[in-house]
Amino acid sequence: MTTHPADLIRPDVQALRAYHVPESTGLIKLDAMENPYPWPEALREDWLATLRDTAMNRYPDPHGEALQGALRQAMGIPAGQMLLLGNGSDELIQMLAMAVAQPGRKLLSLEPGFVMYRMIALFAGMNYIGVPLRADDFALDLDTTLTAIEQEQPALTFIAYPNNPTGNLFDAAAIERIIEASPGLVIVDEAYAPFTDRSFLPRLGDWPNLLVMRTVSKMGLAGLRLGYLAGPPDWLVEVDKVRLPYNINVLTQASASFALHHRTALDEQTNAIRAERGRLFDELRALDGLTCFPSDANFILVRTAAGRAGPIFQGIKDRGVLIKKLDGAHPTLSDCLRLTVGTPEENAALLGALRAALAER
Ligand SMILES: *Cc1c(COP(=O)(O)O)cnc(C)c1O
Repeated sequence: MTTHPADLIRPDVQALRAYHVPESTGLIKLDAMENPYPWPEALREDWLATLRDTAMNRYPDPHGEALQGALRQAMGIPAGQMLLLGNGSDELIQMLAMAVAQPGRKLLSLEPGFVMYRMIALFAGMNYIGVPLRADDFALDLDTTLTAIEQEQPALTFIAYPNNPTGNLFDAAAIERIIEASPGLVIVDEAYAPFTDRSFLPRLGDWPNLLVMRTVSKMGLAGLRLGYLAGPPDWLVEVDKVRLPYNINVLTQASASFALHHRTALDEQTNAIRAERGRLFDELRALDGLTCFPSDANFILVRTAAGRAGPIFQGIKDRGVLIKKLDGAHPTLSDCLRLTVGTPEENAALLGALRAALAER
């Protein structure tokens, strides 16, 4: 007699739905915080020349030494801090969870926040603790968070800085208090570092339990799947033991090293996105029937009138622009939509579609 999935697959996994990526063919894609700009043509030629010399028949450098060097230099990783590379920062979250998971171990993060913290806690068999942000402005509620840390004693605490999907930066002094009060590791997730001037990277080494995680995804290399984790070697040497061998493929190593050596081209793009964010925010704020939340990331969270997020999302999509509907994802995100900042042309199309959708009743 054959076994059925229902007999063998973990009940908590059976209860899940697989990570859903909406179909976007033919739409202006402003749903996933991607950089909208391709590389300049001249750069593409040099990049292809680099790839031509890449040995596809060999396993990659196991630690990505050349890439680590390029990252250290481009990002200013403090001396004495170790780097760990992941197939996207999602894989680094998974490695951290696998390295500490035991019955009763807890992973804490702030809500609404990045959904993979909760998902990966579940995959790894850790208990997940979501601490609510303030409902009106999504600020960190320090007293509530410190109380939760005291009660739950989390092994891992993830803080996205700036936060996704709200776009705001939490108070740095509050994060310091959390690091000091935490019995476990605190991972400051700086996925949106290219769009803000604030960072905990220079603070690495100030506390023994602080790690900083980043990704190249939002800065313009989402297709490569590369994240990096920086922190004290005594911790990262241990986390490295659960990393699968050769997790960063040769094409990613070669392409990311190349891109980091031509960092100015990427910086021009992320600076253009920052400037567009300001323009888009001003235009959005001028619209009736919308509340806009300030952003230090490459997206803007907005709230529609009650019950209008669904129809407005659909009205925008019917006009050829895909954004993210957050209404229903978390109680404090009711009537909320998330708009990724695109090129000036894409943002103009978004605003046109949004104005038309707002006028439809
Ligand atoms: C997008 C995002 C990530 C995921 O990055 P990848 O490197 O693409 O896996 C991590 N953290 C936050 C807060 C994000 O928004």
